[in-house]
Amino acid sequence: MTQDYLVRALAFNDEVRAFSVRSTDTVQEAQAKHYTWPTASAALGRSMTAGLMMGSMLKNEEKLTITINGGGPIGQIIVDANGKGEVRGYVTNPQTHFDLNEHGKLDVARAVGTTGSLNIVKDIGMRDFFTGSTPIVSGELGEDFTYYFATSEQVPSAVGLGVLVNPDNSIKAAGGFIIQLMPGASEETISAIEQHIGMMEPVSKLIDKGLSPEQVLEEVLGEDNIRIIDRMDVEFKCNCGKEKFLTAIKGLGTAEIDSMIEEDGGAEVECHFCREKYHFNVEELEALKEA
Ligand SMILES: [Zn+2]
Repeated sequence: MTQDYLVRALAFNDEVRAFSVRSTDTVQEAQAKHYTWPTASAALGRSMTAGLMMGSMLKNEEKLTITINGGGPIGQIIVDANGKGEVRGYVTNPQTHFDLNEHGKLDVARAVGTTGSLNIVKDIGMRDFFTGSTPIVSGELGEDFTYYFATSEQVPSAVGLGVLVNPDNSIKAAGGFIIQLMPGASEETISAIEQHIGMMEPVSKLIDKGLSPEQVLEEVLGEDNIRIIDRMDVEFKCNCGKEKFLTAIKGLGTAEIDSMIEEDGGAEVECHFCREKYHFNVEELEALKEA
């Protein structure tokens, strides 16, 4: 049973909207499914944490995909999230790890790289898509999402994302926040937030100390300013299933299906997102050709 949840809030007389999430168990589940090493866990975990909060900006049936390709050894980071608190994700090379950086932190920028782009595709229903893309500016990901919001969505934002990893590679703490200025936010509000953020501990530390998402927002925005709008449980959830892969195999065409039957006597496919394996026997493959 996951204790992870997300809150949405307004602050400073509604000049600011804010999101905060504890994602420790969600990132732990990703770590266990993909056997990520610590630096990869931090990169994937930060991206999933951002995905959960961006998902909560969507309506129920809408969803989004984050693709991060920074040119680093981790390869691509892919995260799917929706408006129901569900997220899934994977990286090309989960067994990526480096020594801690000069700040004593997991060296996410070295794993992610600093030369590529951060891409967002929002599926907002009725075959309508919003796409946005910005260059990777730091590789630490928090700053990259901040840059994305500022340039692609024109919303001045502050994004904090953090993951702490135990010596046995399990996840000690994970979480994050997104603070966004509404149009007309005052200079006083902006400098008050900057002051709080300048003084606060990293969000992963706060979560590790046991602070709730509400309490994290109090650290970022000050205690008396916040009005919580809603709260939502979050979890790692993959919506794959045998049916989806059947459709995918069918799309490969008869010749490809014949070679699976003749050369392999069936087919086994693995979901990239959750590592679930699906087996298809000869009868099932034959039926696909006729369908
Ligand atoms: Zn899956």
